Amino acid sequence: MTNDHLLLLIIPLNFIGFYHFPLNALDISYHHCGVLLSIAIMVLSSLSTFGASERAASASNMRYTLLWRGLAATCMGVGICSTHFIGLLALQLPIPRNYDLNQVALSAIPMIFVSYIICWLMQRPDFNRLLTLAISSILFGGAFATMYTMDIAAMKINADIVHFTPLIILSSIMALLCVPIAFQTRFAIILKNDYAFASKTQVINSIFMGLAVAGVHYTAMLGTVFIPTDKKGPAIEDIDIFSLAGDVSLVAFIIMLMTSIIPHIFRFREMIDVLQKNEDNLKISATAFETHESIIVTDEHLKIIRVNKAFTRSTGYKEMDVIGSDLKEFNAEDNDTIFYNTLWESLKNKGNWSGKVNSRRKNGDVVSEWQSVSAVKNNDGEISNYVAFLSDIKEFKIAEKEIEKLAFYDYLTGLPNRRLLYERLAHELNLARRYQRAGVILFLDLDNFKTINDSLDHSIGDQLLVETAKRLQSLLRDTDTAARLGGDEFIILGSAQDGIHFDLTEQSHVLAEKVIQALLQPYYIGEHELYISASIGITLYTGIDETVELLLKKADTAMYQAKENGRNTYRFYQDSMQEAADARLDIDKNLRLAVSNNELELCYQAQHTDKETITGVEALLRWHSKALGDMSKTEFIAIAEESNLILVVGQWVLETACKQIKQWEKDDIQIPHISINISAKQFHQVDFVSNIIHTASEYHVDPKKLILEITESVFLNNLEEAIDKMHILKGKGFKFAIDDFGTGYSSLTYLKRLPFDQLKIDQSFVKELINRPTDVVIVKAIISMAKGLNLDIIAEGIETKEHFDFLSFFGCPCYQGFYFSKPLFIEEFNQYVKTRVVNKD
Ligand code: C2E
Ligand code: MG
Ligand code: MG
Repeated sequence: MTNDHLLLLIIPLNFIGFYHFPLNALDISYHHCGVLLSIAIMVLSSLSTFGASERAASASNMRYTLLWRGLAATCMGVGICSTHFIGLLALQLPIPRNYDLNQVALSAIPMIFVSYIICWLMQRPDFNRLLTLAISSILFGGAFATMYTMDIAAMKINADIVHFTPLIILSSIMALLCVPIAFQTRFAIILKNDYAFASKTQVINSIFMGLAVAGVHYTAMLGTVFIPTDKKGPAIEDIDIFSLAGDVSLVAFIIMLMTSIIPHIFRFREMIDVLQKNEDNLKISATAFETHESIIVTDEHLKIIRVNKAFTRSTGYKEMDVIGSDLKEFNAEDNDTIFYNTLWESLKNKGNWSGKVNSRRKNGDVVSEWQSVSAVKNNDGEISNYVAFLSDIKEFKIAEKEIEKLAFYDYLTGLPNRRLLYERLAHELNLARRYQRAGVILFLDLDNFKTINDSLDHSIGDQLLVETAKRLQSLLRDTDTAARLGGDEFIILGSAQDGIHFDLTEQSHVLAEKVIQALLQPYYIGEHELYISASIGITLYTGIDETVELLLKKADTAMYQAKENGRNTYRFYQDSMQEAADARLDIDKNLRLAVSNNELELCYQAQHTDKETITGVEALLRWHSKALGDMSKTEFIAIAEESNLILVVGQWVLETACKQIKQWEKDDIQIPHISINISAKQFHQVDFVSNIIHTASEYHVDPKKLILEITESVFLNNLEEAIDKMHILKGKGFKFAIDDFGTGYSSLTYLKRLPFDQLKIDQSFVKELINRPTDVVIVKAIISMAKGLNLDIIAEGIETKEHFDFLSFFGCPCYQGFYFSKPLFIEEFNQYVKTRVVNKD
């Protein structure tokens, strides 16, 4: 089998070799315009194709990718076919010829199809380059050969067409070149993804592509030989090559135009969107640029290209003064070389640098600024600019100070807070220890601040604290500290000083006295004239075996003692105070378990009209503590009041009293009423009224048998609440007694408005009745006033016959005291009652 026969198996063409020459072939020539036109069409369609395939690769969605790829493939297929066909038309033959145009048109289809596949393969990023190239080249070569064969077959001519094999092979080799050109263009496009109509690479490669395709065609045509034949076929009408070439070119140009324009219309639309976005971003950047911080933009060599208004404002330079100058010029000389080397190193390695620089103002001033420089990189990853932000260290310092203020100073009074006090005190203790010095701490608590704060607006309370802080500060030496611990608690810390202990004690007395006097002065806040006082605890320190916490605890204990001693005074810390404070804590701890441990008991003290006749009884609380022994009543009740334990204890008293009433009824012991003491805390509970009613009804106790004793402190702060609560309970049948009358601040107005049934004259008047004539006057006044208000009167603390005689002489009808009976536990009391007459009225 010869070489020709082999080729014939694949392509239905007649091949000839050198050995067929010389041949009786027709003379052929080329119309030069046609040749040029064919090359031009190929160049332009390549350009359109490259453009469209680039759009296909970078399209924003799949639909556009398919569309642009289809257009690119059509343009390439039609371009190659048109080049080929116009090349055929440019061939000038001495005999007529014609074409089957449908077949020529059909010959474009394999080329379009293959172009599409090549375009798709080239755009797949995961494809092996060499493999893609090989597959694409084979496909392209096959499609070209098919097209060529179809076009030759479509030619109608009275001649045999044979092909000179070496030239056809050369032409095939040239065809293989086309694919790498397209390939090279494809990668060039991806790297340079700009928005030019066509890139330089695209233009150059389009020219190569045009020449390559034309080369393939014309080389093949060189190897194509037309041999006249004697066969008589139908007459062939010669074609009008010019009009046909014109038509083909027109179709090719229309497709090229569509391929170029349509994707670009979309490209421009996207560009406009991008531009719009860029414009928006620019506006944002411009606004951000004009911040209150100075900003300098430089090129990659640190030459200034822009500054913002804050920069010109703060430095005094105009924009035109600085544009083009070096960033370093604005820094003062004392920024040395090492400094700049560090700056550059950091910029190069990390892309940013920040630190303190000394900058020069236009007027020559040198100021410290905080400078942050960041590198800006372009699309190729190279540094194109630097942006420097400058902020005044003064502002930093102000901010720092502000933060320190928030952390260490009281927001309201501006005095040092607990944290700073602790630090200063620790420092003073160190000094005292090291240099054998001594200092003093005064712990102040305002006495009636809570009342003022609750009854008036809180802002008044705030202003009062501010004024107090000012007064304290005005009394101190520079080395001393006044601090606010919180609420209405203040500390005065006298710095450690040399000198003898006695002096310091003396000075502390003087200081405490001055503080008390200063705070006693009236406060004028708004339209209010307010008065407060302070209780002060004082302790001295030497730093030996002392901690901050311990000292403050000592001063607090002494302050507590001052409060106990009637307020508006001061006390020096003594160890005994600490013992008392510890004991208080102990009581509190054990009292919590007293109810559950069954350690509480009520004892009963009878109330008399005379020695023989009982009118009622008061229940008084006793605590037999397992841990602490029998406790003094006044002490533990006061502690219970402080810690709210009185609520539990009070409820226990109420229930026990109710049970006792029922028991007496059962035992047929006639007791007209039982008085129980109600603490202020109990009375102020929201559910006080409902609780009393509920408990009495739970034990089926007639409310008339219960008298609730309250002291003046209960209603002093909130008269309306007291009136409301008392009225409700009175409506249910309960009675009220005002206990310890005369010791508080009750005025007649109070008594008129509050629905009391009974008034108990405090035992302090009774005690001094014989010695103090003023007390006689007071007691007489109380009795006549109570009678006027229709109140039952009981005098407490009747210890002797003299007391009794005195009071009965003044018209007091009823008595309670040791002269009649001490408070007795229940068995004893029951015995006592049995030997007396009970007055049931
Ligand atoms: P109070 O209500 O004024 O009770 C009268 C106090 O005077 C009782 O003291 C009683 O023992 C005492 N006393 C009675 N006659 C004489 C006398 O002739 N001479 C002297 N020197 N004292 C006499 P006690 O029991 O120590 O109670 C003291 C205070 O404790 C009571 O004063 C009352 O305010 C309070 N208290 C007692 N029991 C309770 C209770 O259950 N609840 C509450 N919240 N407080 C209670
Ligand atoms: Mg009482
Ligand atoms: Mg009393």
